[in-house]
Amino acid sequence: MSYDDNNIFAKILRNEIPCNKIYEDEFVLSFYDINPQKKIHALVIPKGKYVDLDDFSQNASSNEMVGLFKGINIVAKKLNISVDAGKGYRALANIGENGGQEVPHLHFHLFGGEKIGKMVS
Ligand code: AMP
Repeated sequence: MSYDDNNIFAKILRNEIPCNKIYEDEFVLSFYDINPQKKIHALVIPKGKYVDLDDFSQNASSNEMVGLFKGINIVAKKLNISVDAGKGYRALANIGENGGQEVPHLHFHLFGGEKIGKMVS
């Protein structure tokens, strides 16, 4: 699947539509999910144009990979949900149709602030 420049997260990255920003650096943007599924529900997205985790794993640079994973940790600490600062959280990426991915720009969901429960429903 090729990258769709009109997906909603691409528009957020271009500042065409607003988001409730948590954190931003050279590699990632993080903002609150518009339809939270848990007490804390954040999204972390790479700034590069990657459709999903498979695309990212195959095509992103080493710096982008490190940047994304460090970004997740920075956001978790900022939200006080990391193991260090809080009681832990769940990071989840939906990938493709069977994975239930709706927005075709790679994103990690961070769920926290309460027990997250069953891994798969
Ligand atoms: P997924 O099913 O993994 O692709 O998740 C997409 C997520 O993006 C859903 O949890 C949506 O609630 C969230 N979402 C969609 N549009 C926006 C938006 N404009 N701002 C923040 N989150 C959004």
